[in-house]
Amino acid sequence: MNPNHAIQRYGLAGLIFLLTVFASVGTGLASSQSAGKSVDAGLTLAECVETIRFFEIVGGVQREVLVEACDLADGRPLTSSGYISGVVVSSTKDDLQVSIEDTENPRLNAGGDPSGARRQLTVNRDEAGGIEGRHCYVYFPNVPGDAVLEPDRFQITISDGQQSVCVPVRHRGYREISPVDMELPTTKRKIRFDYAGEDASVPSPASVERQLRLQAVAAGIDHVEQALGAELVAQVTILDWKGADNALTSSGNARIWLYADTFRNRSAAELKCAAEHEALHVFVDRQGYTKNTRLRELFADLKGFGPLSLDRFALVTTGKLPPAAQDITTDADLLTFIDERNFIDGMAGGHASENLDEFATSFLHSLLYIDRLASNLDGLDRVDPREAAEISAETRRRTTLEDYRRTLEAFLAATGSDPRSTREPVAPVLRLLERGLALSAEIPPTVDPEVAREF
Ligand SMILES: [Zn+2]
Repeated sequence: MNPNHAIQRYGLAGLIFLLTVFASVGTGLASSQSAGKSVDAGLTLAECVETIRFFEIVGGVQREVLVEACDLADGRPLTSSGYISGVVVSSTKDDLQVSIEDTENPRLNAGGDPSGARRQLTVNRDEAGGIEGRHCYVYFPNVPGDAVLEPDRFQITISDGQQSVCVPVRHRGYREISPVDMELPTTKRKIRFDYAGEDASVPSPASVERQLRLQAVAAGIDHVEQALGAELVAQVTILDWKGADNALTSSGNARIWLYADTFRNRSAAELKCAAEHEALHVFVDRQGYTKNTRLRELFADLKGFGPLSLDRFALVTTGKLPPAAQDITTDADLLTFIDERNFIDGMAGGHASENLDEFATSFLHSLLYIDRLASNLDGLDRVDPREAAEISAETRRRTTLEDYRRTLEAFLAATGSDPRSTREPVAPVLRLLERGLALSAEIPPTVDPEVAREF
């Protein structure tokens, strides 16, 4: 190991980490026969790896640590007092297979569980920094600030197709939050709560406050699952990374990730609302709403894109807003009207104008609170006050109600249309949409007194 080299590049954080690595040398790894060199000694780590860069999260802060391959010989493990959130292996070889593996659950490895025990590093040219002959193999979780693997122990396996070497790693992986399985209030279905971080109070059952927050998250998931008649969320993970203060989902996963500051600092009511929003994201993903042409066209209309605009073309063909269109301010009122901070009393969040996924999610969320539609229309001017001369309150209200109904019609047409969603029960959401149409039909546009006099 060359600590001076590491300190020059990565400062004090690197020094602390490297000292940790030194301290861990020889702690229980002597039995790892293949660590650092292949079983038949035909391939050594130094032959195929230049450096390994780790990203670790300690105390909520992510930091980068460089380790030279020569310092990892003889099976010495890499150790982090926090958890590993990213790995970059630098090599002069371009034909390696590099993976992160949970060696303590080999059955999962063999089964190829995509969410479980094995992560494949992929070649990333940008990470190589344009240096000729250098190749970088990279893995970062889809969710920023997540751990690369759940268990406390794993290994990085580097193979040239014939032989392999491995680097054992020790970090503080997921902690199951007690009670391990939280029951959803209505169905009693159990979902798993995990925590990644060092704050022992989060996974501990001691705090009543903490328990209320967990129950609020479960209640939010339960509300959505009951309304849509679908099992959407199997796992909730709280990440102690200070880089974000919100909650999110990842396409194809029945999971919600929640950042620890959000969990600690938001009220139980806000957490319930956030969990509802995220569970709805899972539903939107499963239904394939963002791939639906009619919903894409509707969203383009609401963004104010003209029939021949390039922004509309990009949105309808790719489902994504071009970056230049992000700043365009021709959004229909509906896009802010349905944001949770406007539609649901006392709540924060919602950014329906950002993309079709957020629009679909916040719209379905508003549908769960459809009884607020009429009074929210009355308060439209408070949501986004505009110059009186620009557009009348009457027109804004009527247009927003029409857009709301138009969106209900588009969702009715889109629901169940994606082949991927055929296994999903769609009757409950169709009922919700029909009910929304019926209720919204009973809401008259407010008659402006000035207009009434004219007639
Ligand atoms: Zn969202």
